[in-house]
Amino acid sequence: MFALAIHGGAGTITRASLTPDSEREYRAALAAALATGYDMLRDGAAALDAVEAAVRSLEDCPLFNAGRGAVFTHDGHHEMDAALMSGHNRLAGAVTGVREVQNPIRAARLVMEKTEHVLLGYPGADDLAREYGLPLQPVEYFFTQHRYIQLQEALREGRMRLDHSQARPTTELPTTAPLEEPVKFTDVPEPDPNWKKGTVGAVARDQHGHLAAATSTGGMTNKRYSRIGDTPLIGAGTWADERCAISCTGNGEYFIRAVAAYDIACLMEYKGLSLEEAARIVVQDKLAPVGGEGGLIAVDAAGNVTLPFNSDGMYRASQVEGGAALVAIYKE
Ligand code: ASP
Repeated sequence: MFALAIHGGAGTITRASLTPDSEREYRAALAAALATGYDMLRDGAAALDAVEAAVRSLEDCPLFNAGRGAVFTHDGHHEMDAALMSGHNRLAGAVTGVREVQNPIRAARLVMEKTEHVLLGYPGADDLAREYGLPLQPVEYFFTQHRYIQLQEALREGRMRLDHSQARPTTELPTTAPLEEPVKFTDVPEPDPNWKKGTVGAVARDQHGHLAAATSTGGMTNKRYSRIGDTPLIGAGTWADERCAISCTGNGEYFIRAVAAYDIACLMEYKGLSLEEAARIVVQDKLAPVGGEGGLIAVDAAGNVTLPFNSDGMYRASQVEGGAALVAIYKE
C-alpha cells in the first residue's frame, strides 16, 4: 500500500482569513503537489523521490513559505532551510540559511548523496548547489509583495513571527516603503497565539515499503540573522526510519525543544503505540500545552496516514493507494 501526505503550513488559518479565490488557489496548489508525488509512487518511484518532487512543487509556488514564497529575515533577506530523510537506510541531508538555490530541498538531497555530511549551512550550502548545477535565482525571484508587507508589520511589532502565505494583508502599507530601522532583539516576546505558520513538507511510503520525509521553509518573518528552526534539524522537524516518516510545521523553537518528529518514532518503538496515537500525543499533549502551535504529517510502514494539528488550520493533502485525494485546510 503506497501513501503520500503533504502540508503547506499550520496556524491561524480560518475560513474568515481566506477569500474564496485564495482558498481555491491553495487547494489547487496542494492538489497539484499531491498528484505529482502520487503519480510517481503509483509508477513505482522511491518514496524519497516522491517527497522531493512534491516539496519542489510547493517550493516553486509563491503561496507557501518555502522556496519562492519564503518569508523575509530581519535584514530583508531570505534564508531558507530544508531537510529530507530516507527511512530504511537512515540517510539524511539538510541545508540551512541558503539564499540562492531555487529548490532548497534539492540542495538537501545533494548534501545527503554527494557529501559525507548531514547539515550544511549558509554560503557553503549554496556553493554546493552551484557546484552541482542546481538552478540558482537572483534575490528578485524570492520577492513577494505580501511577504514584504509581513516583514514591515513584524518590524513595527518588534517581534519575530511565523507567517503562512496570506493573500490579504491585514494592514494597508505603502508597497514601496523602504525597510524600517531594524529593531533590537533585547526582549524575548511571549508567543503570540495569532502568529501564523508556514513551511511545506511531504511524507511517503512507496511500493517497496520504504518511507521518506522532506520539509522546506523560509522560517519565520523577521527572524534574526542565522536563526535556524526545526525544519533542517533531523529529529526535530523532519524524521524517517523503518517505522514512520514525519514532517512538522509550527513554531520551530518548540518543535526543537520537544524533538517532536523523533519523539513519535520513539513512542511507537518504546511504547508500541500506533502512528496515530503517537502523533496525537506529541501534537496535543506535549506541544500544545507549552504553546507549541502547529502540526505535522505522518505515515507508517503499513501506509497509515495521520495529519494532526493543534492550530486553527493546516494546509494539507493526502492520498493512499487506490483511494481518493483528500485536500483540506481548516479544522473540520
Ligand atoms: N517550523 C518552521 C520554523 O520554525 C516554520 C513553520 O513551520 O512555519 O522555521
